[in-house]
Amino acid sequence: MSLIGQYDTDNIFAKIIRGEAPCFKIYEDEDVLAFLDLFPQSYGHSLVIPKRAAARNILEIDSDNLAKVTAAVQKVARALVDELQPAGVQVAQFNGAPAGQTVFHLHMHVIPRFDGEGLGIHAANKADPVELEKLQARLSKRLQG
Ligand code: AMP
Repeated sequence: MSLIGQYDTDNIFAKIIRGEAPCFKIYEDEDVLAFLDLFPQSYGHSLVIPKRAAARNILEIDSDNLAKVTAAVQKVARALVDELQPAGVQVAQFNGAPAGQTVFHLHMHVIPRFDGEGLGIHAANKADPVELEKLQARLSKRLQG
């Protein structure tokens, strides 16, 4: 059952944290990492993950790391609003495959929502890397100075 199980140290987000896989990083500190979703459901769709917690989901993460992730979600949401001026921001987090989870390292989705634009299909359409790079430059400048 995907809700309960062993943490796989070779999941893609663990590889990103270790620098073994690339990402379009927009923010990092000693506890958390934020990067652009490769298959965005809207322009600016970002992910925030803990760096020091081997937790598959919200049931497993300790409250200290969860608080750090949540604070970073707020930081990223504010930067997305300032930079992209969406009409709304959606924060989502899935636990277990039946709930929509596909990567088993806890993460929060921060998804800008624009008037008249529906939500894209989850983890389905790969973004143009050139566009992601441009967006990464804008957001990381705002978040990391
Ligand atoms: P979830 O389905 O909640 O587990 O979300 C996993 C998210 O990670 C999806 O939105 C995917 O599009 C995204 N994703 C998968 N692999 C990567 C990757 N290498 N870099 C960035 N985002 C990814």
